[in-house]
Amino acid sequence: MLNDPRVVRLFEVLTTSENARVEPVFAPRADGWVSYPEVEEQLGVDAAYAARLLEDLCRLGYLRREFHESVQFCPVCNSQDLKLVCRCHKCGSRYLVRKRVLEHKACGLCAPEEEFEREGTRPGGDAGPRFCPKCRSEMTLVGADYEDRGTRYRCGDCTELVEEPVEEWHCRSCRRVFGKAMLRYETLHRYAVNKAQLARLRVERIPKARVRDFLTREGYEVQETVHAVGRSGAEHEIDLLATKRSGPLEHRIVVGFASDEKPVESEEVIKLYAKAYDVNAQDIIMVASPGLSDDARSFAGHYHIRVFDSEQLNRADVELNV
Ligand SMILES: [Zn+2]
Ligand SMILES: [Zn+2]
Ligand SMILES: [Zn+2]
Repeated sequence: MLNDPRVVRLFEVLTTSENARVEPVFAPRADGWVSYPEVEEQLGVDAAYAARLLEDLCRLGYLRREFHESVQFCPVCNSQDLKLVCRCHKCGSRYLVRKRVLEHKACGLCAPEEEFEREGTRPGGDAGPRFCPKCRSEMTLVGADYEDRGTRYRCGDCTELVEEPVEEWHCRSCRRVFGKAMLRYETLHRYAVNKAQLARLRVERIPKARVRDFLTREGYEVQETVHAVGRSGAEHEIDLLATKRSGPLEHRIVVGFASDEKPVESEEVIKLYAKAYDVNAQDIIMVASPGLSDDARSFAGHYHIRVFDSEQLNRADVELNV
């Protein structure tokens, strides 16, 4: 997957785009409802492919998934043009009036605020105390005498006090009506680049995958991270070892990967040469990030080592020639 030119292209897009993230749009269709237009356009893939690709790269740690928004839509036609209708659970009426509800603690009466009448006005203009319409006691302190139970609905037809009305969703597009449980409610995610992982990807994974792929196509058997004992008896760790047999002859290529903050120094070139020589390799390839120092380059030339820059190998259009 990592040497798929489309994936390489996606990382190019991501690292050069301003905010280094791809954003979703709600775009319902037969096989899904989310779309990443930027990815689809740049890679020339369909919505389903783009969504799957982003998910895979997230699982591999190259991208980070973030919440973008939640969407609600019709389960039948995917339209977001919906209207919410609330009904009384007892008689089904849509005539619901919102009320603030109080509860008198002593007798347990729960009723809309306006039913707890106030008597008179205190000197100074303050409202007088409330009285419970059921037991006629005075209610002075909220929290002590009575509680504020928040808003509920009074049914205009059957007078029932409704705490949670029945939710009914009407789709303006297909004209269907459905309950709350049927409403599609989904989360849209955007993806951000995981910078540390991406650096590793560009320096190591993509170049390695490309070299491996190339040598395999050339008929080599390629092994990754091989421990080989050389003629000197020393054991070497080799990043990629490619072997091709034709009759009694065996052609071996040793591929080394080196990366540093600054251009790779000659020491790395010499080490790679020594290793390759010890394990009898006829050819040596070095992939360096970010390239070689001048000194190192002349050593590489002297030892006939082919040198590639990691960044070069990140570009899908660069042809390898070994
Ligand atoms: Zn009712
Ligand atoms: Zn009461
Ligand atoms: Zn609909």
